[in-house]
Amino acid sequence: MGRRLLFLGPQGVGKGTQAAKVAQLIGVPHVSTGDMLRQAVAEGTDLGMQAKALMEAGDLVPDELVVAMVKERFAKPDALCGYLLDGFPRNQAQAEALDVAMNGEAIELVISMTADEDELLRRMQERAEREGRSDDTPEAMKRRLALYWDETAPLTEYYPTQQVRVAAVDGMGTIDEVFHRIVAAIAELDP
Ligand code: AMP
Repeated sequence: MGRRLLFLGPQGVGKGTQAAKVAQLIGVPHVSTGDMLRQAVAEGTDLGMQAKALMEAGDLVPDELVVAMVKERFAKPDALCGYLLDGFPRNQAQAEALDVAMNGEAIELVISMTADEDELLRRMQERAEREGRSDDTPEAMKRRLALYWDETAPLTEYYPTQQVRVAAVDGMGTIDEVFHRIVAAIAELDP
């Protein structure tokens, strides 16, 4: 059966890595708005051209552009049987737009990943050296982290008010250790 899952967590927590592994395990598409936007930038689409400078500064792309992109993704047949959202929603307005777009269905579980600030910074630095993403400058990293705490983290308090369960998962340890914690949290859902 499909699942509708949402992953939250600050940059550096390992969210993208875990989201990809979990999506593959349970057989639902991994819907990463960051990946979709990076692809739009690489292809030079209208959306990509509007998003590029904002992304490089670590700012958010306007809600209406991201929401339209996600709605388009939901319309593809593979999303009919569920999905794993990674990087969306990023704020309250996007969460409300998602509720509307889901047409009465609900997110079944929010996985909220956490880690020590020191570990986050260490992993971000490591990724910057490995991948060389154009938004991995020190200023943009700081901006993204600040936006996460201000706008995204409060969603862990919003979802319980919508009767959506939030599972806090410790992101410290090896990739496998964290993966097993997440799989255990999902296994507690009804079949
Ligand atoms: P990520 O790969 O999730 O860290 O996203 C990289 C960048 O893409 C972010 O810093 C934002 O500029 C942009 N982005 C990704 N997802 C969203 C979203 N849901 N809303 C607005 N901007 C986004």
